[in-house]
Amino acid sequence: MNFLMKQITKLASDDILPLTCSRTGSCCFGNQVLLNPWELTLIANAKNITVREFSNLYCDFGGIRLRFDGELIFNQKKACRQYIENFGCSVYEGRPLACRLFPLGRYIQNSEAHYMFEGTIFPCLAECSEVTNLHSMTVTNYLSGQETELFEKAVDTYLGMVQNIADIAFTLLLAVIQGDVTT
Ligand code: SF4
Ligand code: SF4
Repeated sequence: MNFLMKQITKLASDDILPLTCSRTGSCCFGNQVLLNPWELTLIANAKNITVREFSNLYCDFGGIRLRFDGELIFNQKKACRQYIENFGCSVYEGRPLACRLFPLGRYIQNSEAHYMFEGTIFPCLAECSEVTNLHSMTVTNYLSGQETELFEKAVDTYLGMVQNIADIAFTLLLAVIQGDVTT
């Protein structure tokens, strides 16, 4: 098992970065995008189909991960199934938090959200180096433009709920093992 941690660059909310997307869509290829149930519902609505249909047609593992097995290929990477050539994201209004945040990532420390990017070089530069010629902005302004607030609340609530269920299950299991509960 590989225990090596990926290097990250932590960001302050007033850090200024070339966060204007050049819209080539290169990050819609060969990526991994996970969905919580709320995001699954929004993205299915944006596609104008039911959650079950969206999950069956475009997701792996019962709706928790978007499929990146489209016919379009960029740098040997397959496209997200929601990506349309010469158009872009077909579910833009309902795109999940990971797509809204990219190239930033998010983590919680001391009950507060913080932002970062992977590696030490700004990720967009790898395939969209033209971003340095576009408008730069603060992390806060970028997040506001991407309307991440509700999505961030949803993911925190979802993860809190999953943690509570896991805690209850663990407590019950322990009680069964210790003979406090009969099955
Ligand atoms: S890599 Fe960055 S600039 Fe390129 S399409 Fe993605 S978000 Fe936009
Ligand atoms: S959902 Fe849209 S923005 Fe997100 S990876 Fe797919 S095509 Fe790109």
